[in-house]
Amino acid sequence: MRCVFLGPPGAGKGTQAAVLREKRSLAHISTGDILRDNVKKGTDLGKQAKEFMDSGGLVPDEVIVSMMKGRLQEPDCSSGFILDGFPRTAPQAEALGALLKEMQIPLDAVILFDVSDDVVIQRLTGRRICRSCGAIYHAVNRPPKVDGVCDACGGALYQRDDDSEDVVKKRLEVYKEQTRPLVDYYEKRGILVRVDAGKSGEEVISSIESAAGSEHDLA
Ligand code: ADP
Ligand code: AMP
Repeated sequence: MRCVFLGPPGAGKGTQAAVLREKRSLAHISTGDILRDNVKKGTDLGKQAKEFMDSGGLVPDEVIVSMMKGRLQEPDCSSGFILDGFPRTAPQAEALGALLKEMQIPLDAVILFDVSDDVVIQRLTGRRICRSCGAIYHAVNRPPKVDGVCDACGGALYQRDDDSEDVVKKRLEVYKEQTRPLVDYYEKRGILVRVDAGKSGEEVISSIESAAGSEHDLA
């Protein structure tokens, strides 16, 4: 299974990628997670990316593409991958196509997480993340058993700086302008699968598995 999870921030891509990664041996590649890790470690890449991320804008294409070129060639990608948050612009989609062609790897499907703005805003402003293992919670929709503590590893939960309401609105605008055109791009290539991401987590994962499985044989 080699696929892209496409959709607005807060649609549930990371949540569902974590479920699928457990069920099948797939690499879950989240460009946002890679960038945040670099910001935390203070690398050159992190320094380049930080101001774009803080403001809710996109990190320049050339930075992202060169980062992903390296990542897709790592050994864990050979048994399949989920790209979460990449590509996010037309040039990134073109670069991904060229890279996969060079590697002689087909892209099986692009799963579009269809969800309304209101749901996205509610999900992002309530999102909490474990500082140690990265598990994703929600203050209301998926609260941890003990407030502020990760069920899986006992780590402390935090709220991302860019999940504040003003930055969320900016990120949604950026999605509509720069990323949503990729829906057409992949629809024309016949690999787009739409999933109603406003439903419960269980319903979303089963529609991803059945839609993708039946149309593109991702099993
Ligand atoms: P994305 O990776 O698309 O930005 P996340 O997977 O981080 O989105 O999910 C955003 C927030 O929404 C998280 O707090 C998560 O717990 C919550 N969430 C994810 N999927 C659902 C769902 N199907 N129903 C309700 N809340 C959800
Ligand atoms: P995410 O974790 O996917 O919500 O991404 C968080 C932030 O990282 C985004 O708001 C962007 O600033 C940056 N980012 C992540 N992926 C990309 C990408 N493919 N292209 C450009 N910027 C990205």
